[in-house]
Amino acid sequence: MPVYLLHCKSCDHKYETLYYKGLKLPDKWVCSRCESKDVVQVSERPHPIEEEKHGGGSCKCCF
Ligand SMILES: [Zn+2]
Repeated sequence: MPVYLLHCKSCDHKYETLYYKGLKLPDKWVCSRCESKDVVQVSERPHPIEEEKHGGGSCKCCF
């Protein structure tokens, strides 16, 4: 599942968030620190663990 790297322009907070497959992306991200909506998506990267090593709930992202 994709990981989004977000950057809040209000407090300069950078954080990552996971987004589950099948869920609709929000129109606006909200900063996890100051709750500002002035958040930009910096990048998206694929699932950090490769498919064949994946599964069985052994990784943090799939709980
Ligand atoms: Zn913020």
